[in-house]
Amino acid sequence: MKIKDPVCRKEIDVQPDTPRVEDCPCCEGENTVYFCSDNCREKFLGDPSLYHQVCHG
Ligand SMILES: [Zn+2]
Ligand SMILES: [Zn+2]
Repeated sequence: MKIKDPVCRKEIDVQPDTPRVEDCPCCEGENTVYFCSDNCREKFLGDPSLYHQVCHG
């Protein structure tokens, strides 16, 4: 499954060990966001709403 990292906009192939955030804190309900690296994941968690529109279209 190919998805876009909302932080760096890189296309990534989701693997079992792909860094992720389950239950994205910037939106209601369940939503899993995937990242190319832990670095991008940390950035996202620093201010999820900054990337909200990107991660949900
Ligand atoms: Zn979100
Ligand atoms: Zn990234």
